[in-house]
Amino acid sequence: MIAKEKNSSKTAHPFEAPDYYLLDDLLSEEYILIRNSTRDWMNTHISPFINDWAQNNECPTHLVQEMGAQGFFGPSLPESYGCPGLDEISYGLIMQEIERVDSGIRSMASVQGSLVMYPIYKYGSEEQKQKYLPKLASGEMMGCFGLTEPDHGSNPGGMLSNFRDMGDHYLLNGSKTWISNSPFADIAVVWAKNENGRIQGLILERGMEGFSTPKIDNKWSLRASHTGELVFDNVKVPKENLLPNVIGLKGPLGCLDKARYGISWGAIGAAMDCYYTALRYAKERIQFDKPIAGYQLQQKKLAEMVTEITKMQLLSYRLGQLMNEGKATTQQISMAKRNNVAGALEIARESRQILGGMGITGDYSMMRHMMNLESVITYEGTHDIHLLITGMDITGISAFR
Ligand SMILES: Cc1cc2nc3c(=O)[nH]c(=O)nc-3n(C[C@H](O)[C@H](O)[C@H](O)COP(=O)(O)OP(=O)(O)OC[C@H]3O[C@@H](n4cnc5c(N)ncnc54)[C@H](O)[C@@H]3O)c2cc1C
Repeated sequence: MIAKEKNSSKTAHPFEAPDYYLLDDLLSEEYILIRNSTRDWMNTHISPFINDWAQNNECPTHLVQEMGAQGFFGPSLPESYGCPGLDEISYGLIMQEIERVDSGIRSMASVQGSLVMYPIYKYGSEEQKQKYLPKLASGEMMGCFGLTEPDHGSNPGGMLSNFRDMGDHYLLNGSKTWISNSPFADIAVVWAKNENGRIQGLILERGMEGFSTPKIDNKWSLRASHTGELVFDNVKVPKENLLPNVIGLKGPLGCLDKARYGISWGAIGAAMDCYYTALRYAKERIQFDKPIAGYQLQQKKLAEMVTEITKMQLLSYRLGQLMNEGKATTQQISMAKRNNVAGALEIARESRQILGGMGITGDYSMMRHMMNLESVITYEGTHDIHLLITGMDITGISAFR
């Protein structure tokens, strides 16, 4: 009986993942093991508490070392730096299972792995990799990624943050906003312009004089993830903290590719959870003497949801293969991020309606997924900008600059 179970928010409900096109047949035993162990960990450590954390705007920072031990941070980075050394499909499946429970927790993990560890791995010196990557992988250290500024969101190339060479150090000024993990991060990978107006990455450590990380409160979305600003007021940054191996916007955009790919899988997780919860509810909820799942209008919603999820799964799976082969393009990644997040948001909205009044409560996950996905559809490139990236790719003409 739903009413009886109507979950004490402390009870994780069982979950059967939709697999309409037998995608599991394409997954190796190792993939399934990774997916299932992530699912089990999330069911035990996050699901029972996530409603309360989100309601209270608490981020489970006490769990970051356990998340590190699970291999959630930088899953596809090499073992030589203390990382799991998995492939891109494994990484995607991990993101799917984390976001099945909550987009905020997935945001914390993907910022750490794709936007902090990846740029250090890809663009950092050997000393920087040795110093930071093992600690970031284990969760002993947490990081954030500073690209967006108050007046430069979709157009990060216009950023005002800048640094000057002072001989034995750099002097950094400016600010960033909407930065996931900033209020508690130990380090920040910050993108700023050098004296020639070229964008470069710097690693900042908490405690540097003039560096502060005010929290952004009053969010209705990603409430179990902390978001904040980064403020640089004449921060002296040691020269060895400059990422030496990239210059220009391609630095931050390269990391965003990696993160957006993970988001395409994460969105599938949120969509699966909404669909499964609605299906289960619709089969048990009786109105006019029969289950509401027996009415055509509800079947239409459910049938469209499972169709969308199937398309999303196939898109991300194929993209994962291309990522593994080093063939995925930024534009292909844009398409998957945009399609899957929009699909998940629509599924969250429709599934919430299937639950009627119960759908707005914290006893079920849809309202939280729906609010979370409003951020996911905006960050890492908005829904509009990703469409324009596809448009530019197929026509050869940019419509956004
Ligand atoms: C919860 C949360 C967490 C975030 N975490 C991070 C983080 O960790 N690090 C980080 O650097 N950033 C982060 N962001 C910032 C995020 O990436 C930006 O919000 C996003 O890039 C959009 O920028 P903006 O909010 O300034 O919107 P704007 O760029 O001002 O866009 C406003 C609207 O205008 C549209 N628009 C803009 N330009 C065009 C155009 N040329 N043509 C058509 N339409 C256009 C957009 O699609 C959008 O609908 C986060 C944001 C949120 C909400």
